[in-house]
Amino acid sequence: MYFKDLTPYKYFESEIEMKNVAWLEKGHLFKTGEVPSEFKDKLWKYMRYPVRVCRGFQRCPFCSLGKNEIPTTTYNGQTRRVGYYELRVWGNDDTVYAVTSLIFHYMESHRYKPPKEFIEAVMNSDDPDNDDYYNRVLSLEKGYDFWLETDRTMVDGSEADKRSAGPFPDTLNSAKVLFYTPKGNYGDVIFNDGTKSHISYMAICRSD
Ligand SMILES: [Zn+2]
Repeated sequence: MYFKDLTPYKYFESEIEMKNVAWLEKGHLFKTGEVPSEFKDKLWKYMRYPVRVCRGFQRCPFCSLGKNEIPTTTYNGQTRRVGYYELRVWGNDDTVYAVTSLIFHYMESHRYKPPKEFIEAVMNSDDPDNDDYYNRVLSLEKGYDFWLETDRTMVDGSEADKRSAGPFPDTLNSAKVLFYTPKGNYGDVIFNDGTKSHISYMAICRSD
């Protein structure tokens, strides 16, 4: 999946304009070099706020991983799984950057150096561990996001009940529904023919 740095984001539909960062691919040159450690420290915090979570994995095109191996990145002794979500960074001029979660892996393992304006945007941004940033991401994602919540705070049961909306079918494909989640953002499925489906619920069912 290649998008040149700072070109307009088109991977998923979006109501706002965003700029691509770190969508690397084989056969396309990218800048390499050292990046400031303050930049990395701050960007690592953004990794706690995954958006556009997908069921499938984007693999690093420069490493060979097994078919079902999930790419990981380790920074300051902390390991995160990457490759199935994106990050959002707001610059001071309200530019929004759409960043693949592989960015850390690309920097640590392949010496990728992001564009200067993005490095400055991250370093000048407020610490993302605050409610303003969290709410901004939530509104961009149209509300509740399962992955965001689990990474930040677990929802208590009563909140979850309030969020589960409407009658849910008793059976799915003639299997009895045992449990279902609150309505939420459970990512997208991309089929082989390129069509996409958004997942709003997940259910556990039992068939005969
Ligand atoms: Zn790699």
